[in-house]
Amino acid sequence: MEEKSETEAQVPRRVPWVRWMVAGLLLLAAGLYGVALVALTSTADGMQNKFSSLARSKYLAFLVWQNLRVLMAYGILVVAAAVLVAPVVARWSRRGATGRWGVMWRALSCGLAMHLYFVLRLVRERPYFMPEGKFGYWWFHIFEAPPEPWRTWLQVVVFDFVPWLVLAGVVVWHGRWLTRRWGSRRMAWAGGLLGLLVAAWVVRVGVTHAHGTVAKPAEVAERPNILVIGSDSLRGDRLGYSGYQPARSDGAAAGGVSPRIDELAARSAVFDLCMTPLASTIESITSTMVSQYPHTHGIRQMWPGQQAVERVRANTEPLADVLERAGYETAAIGDWCGAIYQSLPLGFNEVAVSNYDNFRVYMTQAVFLAHFVVPLYFDNPAGYRLYPEIGSFAQFVTPEVVTKRVTDRLRQGAGQRQPFFWHVFYSCNHLPYRSPEPWHRLFADPAYHGKNRTGVDFDIDQFICGTSLEDKWKALPPDEVAQTRALYDGCTRMFDECVGKILDALREQGLAERTIVVITSDHGDDLYEPGVTLGHGLGFNGGDQTNHVPMVMKIPAGGAQRFPQLVRTIDLAPTLVELAGVKAPKAWEGQSFAGWLRGTAKPQARPYYGETGYPFIQFREQGVKRPDLPPMDEMTFIDESFHYQFVLRPEFEDAVVAAKQRCLRTVNWKLVLTPAADGTRHFRLHHLPTDPHCERNVANEHPEVLAAMRKALERWTDERKETMMDGIFPDGEPE
Ligand SMILES: [Zn+2]
Repeated sequence: MEEKSETEAQVPRRVPWVRWMVAGLLLLAAGLYGVALVALTSTADGMQNKFSSLARSKYLAFLVWQNLRVLMAYGILVVAAAVLVAPVVARWSRRGATGRWGVMWRALSCGLAMHLYFVLRLVRERPYFMPEGKFGYWWFHIFEAPPEPWRTWLQVVVFDFVPWLVLAGVVVWHGRWLTRRWGSRRMAWAGGLLGLLVAAWVVRVGVTHAHGTVAKPAEVAERPNILVIGSDSLRGDRLGYSGYQPARSDGAAAGGVSPRIDELAARSAVFDLCMTPLASTIESITSTMVSQYPHTHGIRQMWPGQQAVERVRANTEPLADVLERAGYETAAIGDWCGAIYQSLPLGFNEVAVSNYDNFRVYMTQAVFLAHFVVPLYFDNPAGYRLYPEIGSFAQFVTPEVVTKRVTDRLRQGAGQRQPFFWHVFYSCNHLPYRSPEPWHRLFADPAYHGKNRTGVDFDIDQFICGTSLEDKWKALPPDEVAQTRALYDGCTRMFDECVGKILDALREQGLAERTIVVITSDHGDDLYEPGVTLGHGLGFNGGDQTNHVPMVMKIPAGGAQRFPQLVRTIDLAPTLVELAGVKAPKAWEGQSFAGWLRGTAKPQARPYYGETGYPFIQFREQGVKRPDLPPMDEMTFIDESFHYQFVLRPEFEDAVVAAKQRCLRTVNWKLVLTPAADGTRHFRLHHLPTDPHCERNVANEHPEVLAAMRKALERWTDERKETMMDGIFPDGEPE
């Protein structure tokens, strides 16, 4: 009883004090919620395409519901903030005025200060969440304000030391406060119980981990595990082992863009030129996994409808199916670029990727990002549990999340008794090249303070509504071009670290010599080479950069090998099944190169045939009037019966195929077919050894090469039959 009176003497009367503190925090939360609603409305007003007006009219109820769901987050934050600010508000309110308004504004100020501290943390750790361009870029300079020698330790103090100190203070204060209310005996019991719970949790985590690392196979599976690791848009010519050197090589950039992949490549089979038939994610991955050209499997543009997807399921034999029949466990693991596996699983029996990349997801994302508290406080495992769809947002599922999914599976014993085939697919290198600290600045000019600091400032509206983007990109000044390339290189280095962690886990589990590891991607990207700007799959201008993918293959007991000969991504599946001792289906169009690796077949360059994808931009072609196609919001619609996906309107399917550019590339020559509006075909021929960026059309100077290649390319285009090298050039390829 004595204790209670002491409490009342020290702290202003208990119940009203707590109540008015919570009221102050609720006021703060209401303010933040209001700001978010205003931000959301202005975003919607700024989006002038057809889809946003559809969002406002047709899906208004859905939008309202999403805004109500977010309220839960605010509620949790008010409770957490009350616990954290209580000691300060209590002390502060003891002196001077302690009326209800006094307590309220004190609580509000403390809450706001804490909120700003977390915003500062976000600027430092995940700057890609900061609304780019909206408030200028002053926040990036905050960390450069203190004198150079102090910066590091000041950040350590503010971000690593202070939080623990504050947390300790809060725990002690609440402990004493509760002791005074409950009495020390009951408090000792509560403390002991809490300690036991923490101890039990620590033991459980330890046991799970130990179980994973100790388990060793009684019987070892005969077939090798197959691990295909890719990063969307990773170019085959921009990795260390391919001879690429980034703009900077000081400090942390010293290892180049890919130290771990380079180390693997040094003891693997490396294919210097591997090409994808269509430089767009879903079309390319389908081609790789079913070993067929797009015109055979039918996915020829990135907005396929349900029928096209079902045709693939019914008519193809994906690699995952073939391996599953041979005893493999199969899984596709990835983030937002891997979401294609949601609508088109390609035989994988487990798909652990982001949710459908559909219109509802876009809308939910717009709501969650407008409510800034979500990225700020809920981009963590607990937050994902509360709002599972966060896992489908481009900015939330980080590469670390994907890597952890893979390494956890390995540590839990995968691949020990039953072989696995996994496609691990990251979004690291995809536009807009966003990456967290420190990757985005690793290869960038420290003096750069423009708007593309942490990612390419990208206007989706222009992509959807028109084709003026080509002109905008072409006008980019040199420092922005350099920055864009530096961002891309940072993304590569981030991917490289993910690969490194997976390789470490493989070795740790004793699986390194029982696993085929393939490093590749779905396509490359343009990075302002001569004749091109940004993007992929839109044309065959410039060199090979959008269709050239990495191909590093580590096979058990295999050593370093180098193959300069041209291979295609459709050749990967036949190679993998041959290496696993499984028969390839007849319907596969690719050709195994396993014999090259084993030394039983002579490596010979193969011809490359390719086509362009969905025409976001119809690149101009000199002297050609291209077919007229409407912008995306007119050519596609949202199919409610197909997971609310964007789907190409059936009436445009033929027009999109007819407008595609085609390409045939041999060792020395590249032929590009461009259809004109009047139905005629325009051809340009490039001699690669003397013109690597394809800037000079030499069709008139080499009529015999043009005729031979044109015949093969038109046969492939019209009859869907490929002609191999000796068929194109029976007397050998001209130099
Ligand atoms: Zn892609």
